[in-house]
Amino acid sequence: MIGIIGAGPGGLTAAVALRRVGCAVEVLEQAPTIRAAGAGLTLQLNAMRMLEALELAEAVTRAGYALKSGCSARPDGSALMRMSLTGADGLTGVGILRGTLSRILHEALPADTVRCGVRVASVSRDGVVIDSQGVERVYDAVIGADGIHSAVRAAVFGEKPLRDANATCWRGIADHDGVDTLCERMGHGLRFGSVPMGGGKTYWFAVANAAPGGTDGADPVAELRDRFSDFEPLVDALLVATPRVMRHDLYDLAPLDVWTAGRVTLLGDAAHAMTPNLGQGACQAIEDAVVLAGAVSRLGVPDGLSRYEETRKARARSFVRRSWTLGAVAQWENPVACWLRNLGMSWTPEVVMRRQLAAVYGVTVPQLG
Ligand SMILES: Cc1cc2nc3c(=O)[nH]c(=O)nc-3n(C[C@H](O)[C@H](O)[C@H](O)COP(=O)(O)OP(=O)(O)OC[C@H]3O[C@@H](n4cnc5c(N)ncnc54)[C@H](O)[C@@H]3O)c2cc1C
Repeated sequence: MIGIIGAGPGGLTAAVALRRVGCAVEVLEQAPTIRAAGAGLTLQLNAMRMLEALELAEAVTRAGYALKSGCSARPDGSALMRMSLTGADGLTGVGILRGTLSRILHEALPADTVRCGVRVASVSRDGVVIDSQGVERVYDAVIGADGIHSAVRAAVFGEKPLRDANATCWRGIADHDGVDTLCERMGHGLRFGSVPMGGGKTYWFAVANAAPGGTDGADPVAELRDRFSDFEPLVDALLVATPRVMRHDLYDLAPLDVWTAGRVTLLGDAAHAMTPNLGQGACQAIEDAVVLAGAVSRLGVPDGLSRYEETRKARARSFVRRSWTLGAVAQWENPVACWLRNLGMSWTPEVVMRRQLAAVYGVTVPQLG
């Protein structure tokens, strides 16, 4: 039996993928139920290829919004750079509510696979897991998919520092269906992105430079409307149509030297949390999950765990690094620097853009059974 700690996109996908290669799995999740709420997610083609291998791409696309293309834009909405999010075979990226993705993954598992309300307190390299009630479980392998503040990582590898990106992000789901493409508008130290989710909803995110620990006043929507008043009118329309705003400071995890020790490995944000600037955190967790299942099916436990880490580490790290750099550039405040950035973006030849996207989306999908 393989124990997976955490039922986020990474842990749930790992459960589906491992079951597909014949492994018995149990998922321990601290929350009382699988999260039905949350913000939106962009699943790019690399993640969709992995979900295709699990025969879930169609369900995910149907439940979300097929994203054929995306753009980076000026605050007034005029495009700086356009990108195709569609593969040669017609598969596209997808905008989807987190809760919807969780439901689809959860429903792909037998009913008793996920145990909610179990918070893992400690894990040892030989596969012994102890929860906060003191209950002990012994697994053949343990996958720490418990997110950026991973208890599994802390127990097995010690405390690892998070890096503060000095930026904060607001997110919301607007009751608004006037958006049909992914678009991120970049101003001076301010960004506003919007992604259609289908079902009359649009997910948006807003980023500003800020020291960690800041809070909003009683009316965050009014504050955001004020802050983004120079942006195109659609931004204001999305903000007014939003019933609830979430706010989180942005962090990532400094690259780890090792993810695997004995019968324990890390997956997703627990292994390589990145800033959200590339929209790849959950996508990389999904890649991890399918690669892990392929390696375990070929090599068993524990060898498959080390092979998974070897296969994934360099690629995941490259996203951590690029996401950090992109965030720094996207949050420039100096008007001259911003003008030069925008000029560079608008002059990027299409062939260069296509080559970059091919590197992101060109994943090798392992054979699963
Ligand atoms: C503002 C923002 C926007 C983003 N946008 C995108 C995007 O568009 N596309 C994209 O691909 N990524 C995006 N990401 C990144 C994405 O959210 C994460 O990378 C992704 O959720 C990681 O999945 P995970 O399964 O590794 O971890 P998580 O989603 O963090 O899940 C971890 C799970 O483990 C559980 N858990 C934690 N501790 C314990 C414990 N001790 N015991 C039991 N259970 C535990 C938690 O309750 C949780 O359910 C964004 C992130 C942010 C902050």
